[in-house]
Amino acid sequence: MLVIGGGIAGYCAALAARRDGADVTVVARAPGATALYAGGMAIIDDLDTVLRSPHHPLTRLGIDPVGIATELDTAISTLQLALGKEGLKFEGTWRRRGLYADIHGVARPANIVPATVAPGELGALSGKRVAVIGVPQVGDYDAASTAQALKELHGIEAFAEDVTIDDLPVAASLTDLYGRRAPAPRARGAAIAYPPGFVALPDDGFELLSSPPSPHGWRLQQALALGAVQAEVTAFETSQASVVAARSSARSFRADAFVLATGRHIGGGLKGGRATTEPLLGLGVFREGSPASSLGVRLHLLEYLDPSEEMRIGLMTDKRLHPLREDGAAAFGNLYAAGAVLGGYDYAGPSGFGVPILTGWLAGRYAAKQGA
Ligand SMILES: Cc1cc2nc3c(=O)[nH]c(=O)nc-3n(C[C@H](O)[C@H](O)[C@H](O)COP(=O)(O)OP(=O)(O)OC[C@H]3O[C@@H](n4cnc5c(N)ncnc54)[C@H](O)[C@@H]3O)c2cc1C
Repeated sequence: MLVIGGGIAGYCAALAARRDGADVTVVARAPGATALYAGGMAIIDDLDTVLRSPHHPLTRLGIDPVGIATELDTAISTLQLALGKEGLKFEGTWRRRGLYADIHGVARPANIVPATVAPGELGALSGKRVAVIGVPQVGDYDAASTAQALKELHGIEAFAEDVTIDDLPVAASLTDLYGRRAPAPRARGAAIAYPPGFVALPDDGFELLSSPPSPHGWRLQQALALGAVQAEVTAFETSQASVVAARSSARSFRADAFVLATGRHIGGGLKGGRATTEPLLGLGVFREGSPASSLGVRLHLLEYLDPSEEMRIGLMTDKRLHPLREDGAAAFGNLYAAGAVLGGYDYAGPSGFGVPILTGWLAGRYAAKQGA
């Protein structure tokens, strides 16, 4: 089986298929949106509401809420176990959401977070003093404003504490902190909020969420990329009803089944333009059930009014995650699609990781059956 895409969706597809005994190769050309995530995995907000939305990729699976819940339980625990083996520990459950502050002190909801972020859940900080670590040499982050925001927005007793790091470059940025040992603050008896990137945090320390470029995303992407072949798929060989091979400039990857987990615009799975297209196989691209090509100028106007309109565009799949052609028929019997390349949901919203994890997981399982 071949998975095209090295983000969270491709990883979950490979994880599920290997668990079912398939021989899997993952091909990825570069880091995609997964490498930019802020540090909190948003899985799902309200499953019943999601399943009432007819074009949502989870609704299209045709699985009842109990079945979805069971698949999510298995997919997420397997993912947490696999990432734990790579040295990345995650905490939380898809059934409960917490609120975590980013480097500006703004709260973001998330279900699953790195263990280094988990102690910073805003509810758990209530009633505690929080020292926000500042590094005066770093220009793109201001601990005093973050502490102020934590106080004003969330009622947390936060204060900034500057530390000096001797060997930082002049005009350092947050990325220069990546991989450095966390400096110990003077404040005692307080929880300690660190800008993301430090390692070996003290027991009472936690990391804030990031804005891109994201140390959380980079750590996750490095773990996911282990074992993937770095190559760009530029074309497919197909027969009437199935995909035979994927081609890169250097080689051809033959397989029984293929999972397309190529992401949205950042990953490269969709190509923007007057009408958004799927560049590798010319698959149908839809918005709310209608082909994007038929929406023409109207969609452009909608995007102008609200950019999130474009965020809902993508591939549409049948119940077994086969992507559809524009005429609504499944394109190939052995091709599956997963992750942010799918439309019908807002990938910056409350299922940012939930859709890639669950559709990746199921696509991997369905594709593994094909090869069996
Ligand atoms: C800035 C930003 C911040 C975000 N923050 C959050 C957050 O905090 N929480 C949250 O839940 N969600 C967040 N999201 C959404 C979430 O990150 C994405 O929905 C999710 O990571 C998508 O995963 P994916 O595997 O489907 O796609 P991607 O991670 O984009 O992976 C696509 C992969 O496909 C590969 N690929 C594409 N075309 C080819 C080809 N032809 N050949 C070979 N490989 C190819 C790419 O190189 C890449 O490896 C954020 C998104 C963005 C953009």
